[in-house]
Amino acid sequence: MATELSKRCDSIVQSEIRVMSVECEKACGINLSQGVCDMEAPTIVREAAKRAIDGGINSYTRYDGIAELRRAIAAKMLAYNKIKADPETDVVVSSGSTGSFYSACLALLNPGDEVILFEPYYGYHVNTLLAVEAVPAYVRLKSPDWTFSAAELEAAITPRTKAIVVNTPANPSGKVFSKKELELIAGLAKKHDFFIFTDEIYEHILYDGAKHISPGSIKSAAERTITISGLSKTFSITGWRIGYSVCDKKWSQMIGYMTDLVYVCAPSPLQAGVARGLTELGESYHAEMCADLLKKREMICSALSHAGLEPFKPRGAYYVLADSSRLGGVTGKERAMRLLEKTGIACVPGEAFFHNPQDGYGLLRFCYAKTQKDLEDACNRLERIKTAA
Ligand code: PLP
Repeated sequence: MATELSKRCDSIVQSEIRVMSVECEKACGINLSQGVCDMEAPTIVREAAKRAIDGGINSYTRYDGIAELRRAIAAKMLAYNKIKADPETDVVVSSGSTGSFYSACLALLNPGDEVILFEPYYGYHVNTLLAVEAVPAYVRLKSPDWTFSAAELEAAITPRTKAIVVNTPANPSGKVFSKKELELIAGLAKKHDFFIFTDEIYEHILYDGAKHISPGSIKSAAERTITISGLSKTFSITGWRIGYSVCDKKWSQMIGYMTDLVYVCAPSPLQAGVARGLTELGESYHAEMCADLLKKREMICSALSHAGLEPFKPRGAYYVLADSSRLGGVTGKERAMRLLEKTGIACVPGEAFFHNPQDGYGLLRFCYAKTQKDLEDACNRLERIKTAA
């Protein structure tokens, strides 16, 4: 039959995160499921974007982004990520880091190529790989510290392995990969000749003295690493869709062409706004954001703990996984729905982050990048399950 969905749709399901957001809206609840940052976007960024619109910067940009933004990204990469990038050739601005990851997959992966991911994983990584008909392979991060076994990682490598995905700090675990772990990954990538795709969207969100290290800053991995990040989280502009990849020009040109093909370019005035923010907002801005999120992490972890949902404290990003067993039921979805019913709080069932759903049944993920008021309200509501569960 000609009029039917493509085969690739068989493996694609709507993200459980979006599903829970819809349920939350129906229940008029507090949405701690989606990683939407409810904090205000910095004035400097908003003002620069408005000026760009009024100043006529409203057309398509070069496929890889406006020069001002590519230069600002290259400067930030050198100063913060310790990665040298030529803004003319090595930086591709795209439609969010999601667009950057998809463009990189289109440019570098063939159907049937195997790609290793650490789980719990970020679902969009898996679904994007499936959309390009790559084959995910999984290595477990073990709670409570989310460490992995070198032997298990080596065992996941086959002659078809084309890439590994690193996400540091990680969603949903909050793991921050150590230098030693990244060197191990870099060594294996070199030995077996595969790419490292690294999603560093939470690079500035770190707690307890954790340090962000970019895999691309490890010399032996530099040429094979595609560093992906964006400003959705750092500037609380998830709807602006500004992200980028940085890599050797051998790869960046085709990644740029793929971005052109799918998105044409990222929104031009918003690129201008972000460029201004990257140039003007430095360490103190990030420190302030981390201090605020640290307070929020403490608040939610303590409320979860009191409610008997023991949290695994994250070292980075703004999500917390918590043990859901106290809520009764079997699946994470049942438990998440039960929590929504009793408290009006939406969270994400753990199975959204594992390829074997039952491995995630015992976990729920809560996003705490919320306004103080909403988070306080959510923490008070968690009190209700003390008696209700
Ligand atoms: N990567 C990770 C690990 C995320 O958690 C998210 C959003 O939740 C994204 C990427 C999306 O980023 P962007 O808005 O830049 O597409």
